[in-house]
Amino acid sequence: YYAKDSGRNNYRAYEPEMNRRVINHMLMDTALRDAMKNKEIYLVYQPLIDLKKSKVVGFEALMRWHSKVLGQVSPVDFIPLAEENGLILEMGEWALEEACAQIVKWQKKGLKNLSVAVNISGRQFRQTNLPDIVGRVLKKTGLQPKFLELELTESLLVDDVENVVDMMYALKDMGTRLVIDDFGTGYSSLSYLKQFPVDKLKIDRSFITEMASDQNDAAIARAIINLGHSLNLEVLAEGIENEFQRDFITLHGCDFAQGYLFKIPDTPDNIFEFLKGLPQSKIN
Ligand code: C2E
Ligand code: MG
Ligand code: MG
Repeated sequence: YYAKDSGRNNYRAYEPEMNRRVINHMLMDTALRDAMKNKEIYLVYQPLIDLKKSKVVGFEALMRWHSKVLGQVSPVDFIPLAEENGLILEMGEWALEEACAQIVKWQKKGLKNLSVAVNISGRQFRQTNLPDIVGRVLKKTGLQPKFLELELTESLLVDDVENVVDMMYALKDMGTRLVIDDFGTGYSSLSYLKQFPVDKLKIDRSFITEMASDQNDAAIARAIINLGHSLNLEVLAEGIENEFQRDFITLHGCDFAQGYLFKIPDTPDNIFEFLKGLPQSKIN
């Protein structure tokens, strides 16, 4: 499996570490199969900040798994596994509905113009009935489509571009907004980008982390901001952890930001408390 994962025509020598990894993988796979019905999966929310108005404008919903057997497992580990074994379809649909329902709850408590961004995995995006699922969820929860953003990663958009564009239009036609996540890390070509009906680019955190010390990262972040604006897209920078990063992207005209500097992803109750502590002028 290792050899196969590293590409075709490859070999790898056996190492005991691999055995442990295979066992971990199997344990996680078994545990994940029960996670939904045991209600071990939940969502946390991270505020999205409008840099010019310095306001909270919405949230990204992020999945968490607290396994009875394995403890807290990172989405970086369980999302790829769920993609592989197909559970992502059920989990993703649940996350979509849960996030929309949460935003409606907050809107009813007076937080009127806040939106929610939900991550859509490759496998979900290739489901031909995704627009039906989104439509059903919007109807069931009563969320207006303009408050829903769907985050798609660049790598998901590169194969089968014709179908991708059709799917994007089907989702756009419903009134939802489309976002390209982790922008700059995939292999999408710029000629595809101009065909995609997207609203926003999210600059990947890898260009933000070292931006103070790495001139190339800073240059790439600026270039993405300019590229996005030239194509009439909004630009958000993820992973903002300090003032230097915030000031740099703000200076270069970035529209939105998200990161630990503003707020770590947190449970709905804690997020609501956080919002209550802000002056009304800081909330959209
Ligand atoms: P992502 O969609 O790019 O989400 C942003 C990640 O950056 C989140 O990691 C968030 O917690 C983290 N982050 C935000 N601000 C900062 C910061 O200032 N510093 C650092 N170091 N990290 C920051 P998280 O929650 O671990 O999620 C990782 C990835 O897992 C997500 O990346 C996304 O690709 C995937 N994921 C999470 N939830 C879902 C989901 O519901 N569905 C799908 N398909 N994928 C999901
Ligand atoms: Mg995301
Ligand atoms: Mg991202």
